[in-house]
Amino acid sequence: MDGMTGRELFQSRQSLTYDDIIILPGHIDFAAQAVSLRTKLTREITLNTPLTSSPMDTVTEAEMAIQLALLGGLGFIHYNNTPEEQAAIVRRVKRFENGFITDPIVLGPHHKIRDVDAIRAAHGFSGIPITETGDLQGKLIGIVTNRDTDLEQNREIPLREVMTTALVTAPEGISLREANQILKESKKGKLPIVDRRGYLVSLVSRTDLLKNRDYPEASKSNQKQLMVGAALSTRPEDRERLEALVAAGVDVVVIDAAQGDSTFQAETIRHIKRNHKSVQVIGGNIVTQKQCAALIAAGADGVRIGMGPGSICITQETMAVGRGQAAAVYHSALAARDSGVPVVADGGIRDIGDVTKALALGAGTVMMGSMFAGTTEAPGEYFYKNGMRVKRYRGMASIEAMEQGGSKRYFADREQILVAQGVSGFVVDKGSVKNLVPYILQGLRHSFQDLGVRDVTSLHDALYGDSLLFELRTHSAQKEGGVHSLHSYEHPTLGKREREK
Ligand code: GDP
Ligand code: 5GP
Repeated sequence: MDGMTGRELFQSRQSLTYDDIIILPGHIDFAAQAVSLRTKLTREITLNTPLTSSPMDTVTEAEMAIQLALLGGLGFIHYNNTPEEQAAIVRRVKRFENGFITDPIVLGPHHKIRDVDAIRAAHGFSGIPITETGDLQGKLIGIVTNRDTDLEQNREIPLREVMTTALVTAPEGISLREANQILKESKKGKLPIVDRRGYLVSLVSRTDLLKNRDYPEASKSNQKQLMVGAALSTRPEDRERLEALVAAGVDVVVIDAAQGDSTFQAETIRHIKRNHKSVQVIGGNIVTQKQCAALIAAGADGVRIGMGPGSICITQETMAVGRGQAAAVYHSALAARDSGVPVVADGGIRDIGDVTKALALGAGTVMMGSMFAGTTEAPGEYFYKNGMRVKRYRGMASIEAMEQGGSKRYFADREQILVAQGVSGFVVDKGSVKNLVPYILQGLRHSFQDLGVRDVTSLHDALYGDSLLFELRTHSAQKEGGVHSLHSYEHPTLGKREREK
């Protein structure tokens, strides 16, 4: 036989990783654009793309979750914060409407022109709605734009004296197309959207008219809102967190545990399924068939796989427990297959090829931390380190993150000595997810084309029908398959990398 089936590949019982394997090509009789990446995240949630982001405090907050959902993926909001803070982030994602600024910066009539200057310096815009109370929940009474303030010498003048009060507004509920039409006709720069009482709801900006993109693949729930996930722990007090998340409209929760096969987790899953039928639950993390079966028996709608493959993770070194991620995905997905519960391959994805490998081993979706860390949408500020523009990226079980409350995942939050299972580091600036994700998706389509499969279901059918063939890679095959014989080079998804010969 030319190559090995999945079954044969994993008969070796070795802790294989993505790097250890390669997939043999199939026959191409379709264009890359014909590939569909539609796939299941959980029993009830189908996404147009297989990409999700990790619930980590240097990866996923509102901006990441919004942008990923617009592009057809899904973000999981981390829980290294209070339940109120996490729920507020979920609410921001649910409230987001493409083209509408749903949380515009607002001032009150008593604020001064210099407050507008400060906003312009910090954020770059100067069109500010003025409400009675000075916050978003107030009645709209005016708007201040550049033209109200630019010729004024005295920056201490209160805004009530300079604001424009003859306002063009639009009622809540109008479509972006209608809002654009009003902006076009009125020739104004900003269109405040108000409710029936005249209270400010959101803002549409003329400068956004041109750059507004359509997002046909967006992950939306029935209510036409973007979908979002959130993490929580098995701790009893996180039952309150759950209530806050559900009230905020969360679509799916992931129970975040490094070793998911526990009584606590089974109880948590049962609790959620009993009390909140509309919320999907992803259990994890697990790496064996037995662990997987336990979570499915408890009622999980999805299972998250991975123990130790994460880029910032030192679990396998410190705990001696875990599994090579390719083996973990294959065995767990096999165990979940009959029940129809999709699995999420979490951690260790370094490039597009690893996404394909994860899906080819049975995963429905992948979850990524380091791939999305360092993007514009990841929390945290850029700074320079050794001449490189970087952002911080840290494991949730790094000492640094645990001291801020991230240790719940490891059943260690009440211990006096914290043993790290992750490290804290930096990743280079990767630009916006708006560019990165389409690049990854197009790469995936070409990868599927090379395999001769048109969609994820066909890929899984080929795996389990023994027509998808793999091979083990020797050490020299891995060297050969990577960049070699260069002094230095630039990597398209990972940025610049110096490599001495
Ligand atoms: P301005 O005329 O000085 O307010 O600035 P522009 O309209 O040229 O640019 C404002 C940009 O910032 C647009 O792309 C807005 O979508 C974006 N933006 C994001 N948040 C806000 C906000 O709270 N207020 C305003 N005015 N713009 C925002
Ligand atoms: P990456 O995509 O960076 O390779 O891996 C991200 C994944 O690593 C996360 O989704 C999560 O499962 C896992 N992870 C996050 N923080 C830590 C940590 O501190 N220790 C360990 N062992 N895993 C972590």
